Amino acid sequence: MANSPASDKLVSDSQLYELFNALSASVAPCLSITIDSRLQISAAEGDCWAVFGVEQLGPNVNQELLSERLHPADRPIIEGWFATPQSTPRDNHLRIRNGSGQLQIYQATFAASDDHLQIELSDTREAARQIGAATGPITRAVLETTDDFIFAKDAHHVLLTASQSMATLCEPVDHWTEFAGKSDYEVFPEELADDYYRLETEVYAGKKIAREVQRFERTDGTTGWVDNRKYPVTDDQGNMIGLFGIARDITEQVNAAQALSLSASVFEHAAERIVILDTQGRIIQGNHAFLEHVEMTAPEVVGQPLAEVQRASHHLESFDDVFPILRDAGEWQGEFHHTHDDGSSYVELARYTAVRDSDGVPHHYVGLHSDITGLKHHAEELEHLAQHDELTGLANRSLLGDRMGQAIAHAARHDSSLAVAYIDIDGFKQVNDSRGHDVGDLFLRGVADAMQAVLRDTDTLARIGGDEFVAVITDIEHDADYIQATERLREAAARAVSVGDERISCTASIGLALYPQDGVEADLLMRRADLAMYRAKREGKDTVHLFGQSHRKGSVSRERLEEALNTNEFELYYQPKINLFNGELVGLEALARWNHPEKGLLSPGDFLDDIDRENLDIPFGEWVIDTAIAQLKSWRESNLHVPISINISGMHLKRAGFIESVETRLRSAQLLGTGALEIEVLESSEIDDLRKVKEVIRDGAHRGIEFALDDFGTGFSSLTNLRQLPVNTVKIDKSFVEDMLHDDEDRAIVGAIIAVCRGLGRRVIAEGVCSMAHARELAHMGCINGQGFGIAMPMAAEDFPTWQETWASELPHWRHRLEPNLPWIPRAETTRPSG
Ligand code: C2E
Ligand code: CA
Ligand code: CA
Repeated sequence: MANSPASDKLVSDSQLYELFNALSASVAPCLSITIDSRLQISAAEGDCWAVFGVEQLGPNVNQELLSERLHPADRPIIEGWFATPQSTPRDNHLRIRNGSGQLQIYQATFAASDDHLQIELSDTREAARQIGAATGPITRAVLETTDDFIFAKDAHHVLLTASQSMATLCEPVDHWTEFAGKSDYEVFPEELADDYYRLETEVYAGKKIAREVQRFERTDGTTGWVDNRKYPVTDDQGNMIGLFGIARDITEQVNAAQALSLSASVFEHAAERIVILDTQGRIIQGNHAFLEHVEMTAPEVVGQPLAEVQRASHHLESFDDVFPILRDAGEWQGEFHHTHDDGSSYVELARYTAVRDSDGVPHHYVGLHSDITGLKHHAEELEHLAQHDELTGLANRSLLGDRMGQAIAHAARHDSSLAVAYIDIDGFKQVNDSRGHDVGDLFLRGVADAMQAVLRDTDTLARIGGDEFVAVITDIEHDADYIQATERLREAAARAVSVGDERISCTASIGLALYPQDGVEADLLMRRADLAMYRAKREGKDTVHLFGQSHRKGSVSRERLEEALNTNEFELYYQPKINLFNGELVGLEALARWNHPEKGLLSPGDFLDDIDRENLDIPFGEWVIDTAIAQLKSWRESNLHVPISINISGMHLKRAGFIESVETRLRSAQLLGTGALEIEVLESSEIDDLRKVKEVIRDGAHRGIEFALDDFGTGFSSLTNLRQLPVNTVKIDKSFVEDMLHDDEDRAIVGAIIAVCRGLGRRVIAEGVCSMAHARELAHMGCINGQGFGIAMPMAAEDFPTWQETWASELPHWRHRLEPNLPWIPRAETTRPSG
């Protein structure tokens, strides 16, 4: 064996060849074995220990070892020799597992021995190690610095040398110099070494370049990809003397390529339409969905401006408008609307983004279109459902709120006005009850349609409850026009509706509140319109009531009102209240009148709003109290003992010291504790500060001053209020009483109030007893007291004694009057009309 040259000395190629040849030639077989066709060892000569890790081989001694230890892939070589010895090359390589289980590669020379095969095994590793150690400085520099994996092998799969980059990859090797003399099985996992071996066999056999992309595992467990190229190295005569390999880590490229092919696949198969444009807005590529959509082929669209292609496919918007925005902003998102040939339309959501180079300059634009027709449709449906009344298709409360908000904002901006009409169908419950809900529903639908038809498109009609509707009427110049528009609504609502072969008609009570006069907030306007609607009901239904109607009629000044107070133009009229069972007088209600020098006798409806607006509630109320007490006193003096109830506004009632002042006056008139004066307070929104009102009433009760809850049933939470207010008497609002004979709903309310009052131990009195039939019915329902035009009109104090005498004289006939078939003789003629 020649001495190896010092590794730091320059070695020439020819020197290397020499060395190479010398060393290769010097490799002597280490073991010779003779085997039969079943690979049974019949004879062995040499170093059994080095190859198999055993002392002995031969008949009966480890004769199966070759069969056991031979790499399965190499078995066919031996089997091939036994089958056709001539065609099997003399020189071969065999991989045999040694005593420690490690595969070793041997150069194997085959020779026949009788009918046996004699194999000489040579281990070339030591020679390879020596050649490898002879690396010159340039080679060494390359091996130490390259990122590629570089290696050289001898002709027998054994490494001569390899780069440091490979050393970092192979766990058993730290430094590149350790590669010399090692086989792949010693540095790589067996599976990988198997792969390399297979590939190299081709190189050695065919003397050609082999190339393969292989997956590898790094020491940290991550995997990568290498592009492996192996070149045969031959001497001048063309004899194979070794192999040079270079492998490059192409993990990044592979990943990128994979990502690319993945995106290509996504691009092609996406349901979304994808189009790629150049910087001029011309199509570079469109995916399958895109082409299908525009009904064109790839060659037809490529190079065409997108705007052109869109025009051909019935876009309603032009990409011409979009492109400048896209170019400026680098992105654009919007909707495209199209029509199909059959006239149906659909909507696309389109998103365009610039693809930029590393300097940020756009080189492409990518557009993604998704069909959102279904989505839009669905969203619209949901929105419609959420905002509309199912029965009539009108707006519901929620949409009404939105529309009112918008209308108010618009009116505020344009300094214009608007109106809120609160519509309640009179007697709808009766339709429902007598003809069934299905008919009731159809009827409501008919009424809704009729009302909708008289409104303009800009107005909103909403259904907010069973038979309650609200209309928002906008953009009208004069208040009078609002009333006209609302009158049209009332007429429309009163029109007969055909349901099946029936014609059904009801009427509507409508309350109207105007922006900005009656309020600038949606909530307040609604409440005021609602209150006005109750007024309309009380005014006899089938009518429109404008909130604060009277003071708008030509309001009266504060000075004029004060003057009327000081000059005694106001007067209290008195309306009798009787026991319906026996006809006896139980009290009088004091009702204010204004003896106006020019206008004649005015009712509270004509001036109370003015008093309220001018904040004269309190002086006026004080006048009422004083006048009523004076009247009580005066009648007592003529031996007329009849309690009087007075109406007091909520604001007055809540004023500090109210009860004390009433108490003082009663005491000085020596009327305290006689129950002669009762105070009526409105059961309506005026009782907003319930706790305060409750306190006053309780305080009054302690001092012997009684209270009645007026207009009961019209307020927002009547029953709740009733439980909390310790009043002695409840007055059922006349609107319910008047209609109870033909409106089941109203009758039911009256019945319920009577029942609840009885349950709570409150006295109950019905207002609006306008006929004997009412009185009779109320008596049957258990309502003890009544008041109304049917019994007596309000009258001036001076008329009362006469009325009272006549009434008393007719009392014995009362019972007969209550009898069903007796004719009713109105008592009204005996009183002065109330104006
Ligand atoms: P109210 O307290 O409900 O008074 C009863 C009203 O019903 C009176 O109207 C009376 O004339 C009327 N009325 C009586 N019987 C019938 C009937 O059978 N059918 C119908 N439809 N109406 C009947 P009036 O006098 O015009 O008073 C209207 C409202 O003005 C009163 O309603 C009350 O809230 C208020 N008011 C009257 N006088 C005063 C007062 O002195 N002070 C205050 N704060 N309010 C008053
Ligand atoms: Ca009253
Ligand atoms: Ca009342």
